[in-house]
Amino acid sequence: MSRIVTIDHIDALAAEYAQKDATDILKLALSQAGEVAISFSGAEDVILIDMAKNLGLPFRVFSLDTGRLHPETYQFLEKVRKHYNLKLEVCWPQPEAVQQLVNQKGLFSFYTDDHKECCGVRKVQPLRQKLATLDGWITGQRKDQSPTRADVPVIQYDQGFSGVGKTLIKYNPLANMTSAEVWSYIRMLEVPYNLLHERGFTSIGCEPCTRPVLPSQHEREGRWWWEEATHKECGLHAGNLKG
Ligand code: SF4
Repeated sequence: MSRIVTIDHIDALAAEYAQKDATDILKLALSQAGEVAISFSGAEDVILIDMAKNLGLPFRVFSLDTGRLHPETYQFLEKVRKHYNLKLEVCWPQPEAVQQLVNQKGLFSFYTDDHKECCGVRKVQPLRQKLATLDGWITGQRKDQSPTRADVPVIQYDQGFSGVGKTLIKYNPLANMTSAEVWSYIRMLEVPYNLLHERGFTSIGCEPCTRPVLPSQHEREGRWWWEEATHKECGLHAGNLKG
């Protein structure tokens, strides 16, 4: 039976589920009334799809194609689509906005200007368009991924990305899982993974803004390495004003 989630009881629900298993949180998300979808980045958040499949509940999956992903990530998206027999909903940036940015500033403006301008065009705008149609979205954010994610709650109201007249709920079922736990899940259940992980990539984003890290380095050190650690967000998770 579908469950109606309102702003008034988000905090209570977040407290109730704060220490629950990822699958319990995912099950709650997938039983929310309205349109709910998993956001798949093409990295280790694939376990959300595996968990959803095992729950046996219907689910939707969308992915952002920025146009700058690694060939390995495109191949992985296709592998996952086939493996789980998904209808993968791919979102693209507006061609006019990309054209304007590239014509004005070239293909690598993010190395000299703030990366947020390019992320705004290639990631945030298409995500905003997608989320405006949804009532809930499910992400692979984890607390151990970066200093900027240390306080990620398992459930929150996503005011910044709510569509007109809608209340968008954001679920982060993996919030309390560590990288080691995620990889243990992937290996034990033989979940497909992005081959870039075998070459030292841990956190995977766009090709020009991602590089491998050493075992001693934090995973986010491979993203926007020319910027401060506390600035390493692309804006996809910036809309949370409550929860
Ligand atoms: S990660 Fe880099 S290439 Fe991708 S959208 Fe952001 S700035 Fe642009």
